Amino acid sequence: MKDIQSSNGFMGGLTPSATLAITAAAKALKAQGVDVCSLSAGEPDFDTPEIIKQSAIKALLEGKTGYTPASGLMELKEAVAKKFVNENNVKTTPGQIIIAPGAKFSVFSAIAALCGPGDEVILPAPFWLSYEEMVKAAGAKCVIIQTKAENNYELDPAELEAAVTENTRLLVLTTPSNPTGAVYRKETLESIADIAVAKNFMVLSDEIYEKLVYDDDKPHVSIGSLNDEINDLTITVNGLSKAYAMTGWRLGYLSAPLWLAKKIGAFQSHTTSNPTTFAQYAAITALEEADAEVEKMRQAFSVRRDLIYSLISAIPGVTCVRPQGAFYLLCDISSFGLTSNEFCSRLLEEKKVAAIPCEAFAAPGKIRLSYACSEDNINEAVSRLKSFCESL
Ligand code: PMP
Ligand code: GLU
Repeated sequence: MKDIQSSNGFMGGLTPSATLAITAAAKALKAQGVDVCSLSAGEPDFDTPEIIKQSAIKALLEGKTGYTPASGLMELKEAVAKKFVNENNVKTTPGQIIIAPGAKFSVFSAIAALCGPGDEVILPAPFWLSYEEMVKAAGAKCVIIQTKAENNYELDPAELEAAVTENTRLLVLTTPSNPTGAVYRKETLESIADIAVAKNFMVLSDEIYEKLVYDDDKPHVSIGSLNDEINDLTITVNGLSKAYAMTGWRLGYLSAPLWLAKKIGAFQSHTTSNPTTFAQYAAITALEEADAEVEKMRQAFSVRRDLIYSLISAIPGVTCVRPQGAFYLLCDISSFGLTSNEFCSRLLEEKKVAAIPCEAFAAPGKIRLSYACSEDNINEAVSRLKSFCESL
């Protein structure tokens, strides 16, 4: 008899997402009445702005409930293209835009449409854990380059150049970064762009935390904005989840060169079809009319960034780099002699604090704290974390 259960396709052998699992476990414990402080969630604690909700309700009441084209509603593609051109200085057209059910699927569909067996995908680490699994799902090979805390976790162009082979197909960049909070400098992006153009590989620029930057000297820069040559090799991904507090709506989007956008569109037409229709109408409102709400949330995150950084930096044995964007703080806890999995399990068990161990982010010895939560929660969680560290 064949052993049906042990036969895996590329996609059958993936590791479940630790971020989603830990965040769900923390929510479940809270629902049972356990006094859990969570620093695990990769989602804003804010509700979606009212103006966006009203737009979805209006679309529903108007009967916007049928299919749209698989790659998204033309009016939304036009709004996204306008956003890329006006806000990011990334040249694109509505035909190059694909709207997806979440930026996670935008990233996956780009990797799936572009990469396969024999291809190498360069991942600067620490990276968002899903990239590695997506590359495996496509049957391609991950080439991991460790970045350094003392270099603000930016990819070193010389190390990139050394890792490129004739099989290099794609580099995945995330700025601002999950989990490091690093925002890439323009000079670094220029060097990376020169290498990509010279060696002819594509760049996937995941910019989902774009609007959550906190330092005037570290503005967000899209690599695709640097020149036409690199834009022709760049897939720029973004989404509504983080900036607009719309994680549950499942809306992401990308701009790709036309030849690739066609392949991604074909892939999406056989997998998800269009993202939810009335949500797409609300996305137009979000992109065009919700700047003031986004700015209020950004300011709240900025205050929390300062708070958590100052509290954590004062704990003996824990080191971290001041994040400039997103809503994460990456902490080195290797001085305590525990793996990050052991550290986080004991922290949850003994102090009821949920944090993300970063083994799956290719950052062993590090944990990720999310400050997408109230200042009270940050104060309480960090005081428990401090007493846990003192007990070790
Ligand atoms: N990219 C990064 C770096 C992320 O942290 C996330 C978080 N979920 C995503 C993409 C995907 O977001 P979503 O699917 O909710 O749009
Ligand atoms: N991206 C968020 C995080 O890193 C949400 C969970 C996920 O999709 O991984 O926590």
